[in-house]
Amino acid sequence: MIRVGVIGAAGRMGQNVIAAVEAAEDLILSAAVDPRHERVIVDPEVVTCATVAELPDGSADVLVDFSIAAAAEQHLVPALARGFHLVVGTTGLSPAAVEAAHEAAEAGPGHLLVAANFALGAVLAMRFAEIAAPYFESVEVIELHHAAKRDAPSGTSLKTAERIAAARAAAGLDDCADPTESTVIEGARGGRAPGGVHIHSVRLPGLVAHEEILFGGPGEGLTIRHDSYDRISFMAGVLLAVRAIGGRPGVTVGLDALLEG
Ligand code: NAD
Repeated sequence: MIRVGVIGAAGRMGQNVIAAVEAAEDLILSAAVDPRHERVIVDPEVVTCATVAELPDGSADVLVDFSIAAAAEQHLVPALARGFHLVVGTTGLSPAAVEAAHEAAEAGPGHLLVAANFALGAVLAMRFAEIAAPYFESVEVIELHHAAKRDAPSGTSLKTAERIAAARAAAGLDDCADPTESTVIEGARGGRAPGGVHIHSVRLPGLVAHEEILFGGPGEGLTIRHDSYDRISFMAGVLLAVRAIGGRPGVTVGLDALLEG
């Protein structure tokens, strides 16, 4: 049995992770961490507390983090140093905080797995985009999310742009050209990510998490689209990570390594 703690337990993702863990025969929910933890209905034997700092040592083998960036930036390093293995889905962390967490995981004893997107279809969409990247002169990314998302652009779109940029650079292509000379409304061209890949963020009630990668070349286009219609789409990837992390010392970035292994 793997003992799992959920950070951000009262949140939209946290609630889904709790349900997925409770439904899995080889996993047991052992801790629920959230400043709003009184809203979380769990077995009385599950440790509940407001912050990771209050979590007793050894109260979980793996902590799954779907909280907020400001919190994760504070608790990842000490949690890894205390020996918890961390599966992290929280997005919007600063590059410095990500680097500090990577260093802490390399030092051990806690292992770290970070994925910008735990939906298997989104992982495949990123891979397909990487394959297509060298063959098109232009590419733009549109990410569409529910209206309560706090950070922009999405971690998935940023990771997608980074991987496209790396694939273009490896093929000897320059950054994507942008002929725009003036914009009437600031931000109309979206944000410029690595490789000159523009990312456009849409926020609307009713959406969950969606991404379109639009490639353009002379006389043709290719669109890759992934839709998470329900947060359950992330759970197969989360459980895969929870089961794998104990055997992966140091840092694992993305689910690809687990799918290929
Ligand atoms: P949410 O706002 O519904 O939940 C966040 C929860 O974190 C809240 O319950 C909040 O009280 C809690 N929290 C705040 N401070 C905390 C602290 N110090 N310790 C513990 N918990 C704390 O948000 P959500 O929609 O569930 O998303 C959570 C995160 O997961 C976001 O960063 C989102 O972008 C990310 N996300 C990632 C993926 C992925 O596949 N990687 C998928 C969906 C969402």
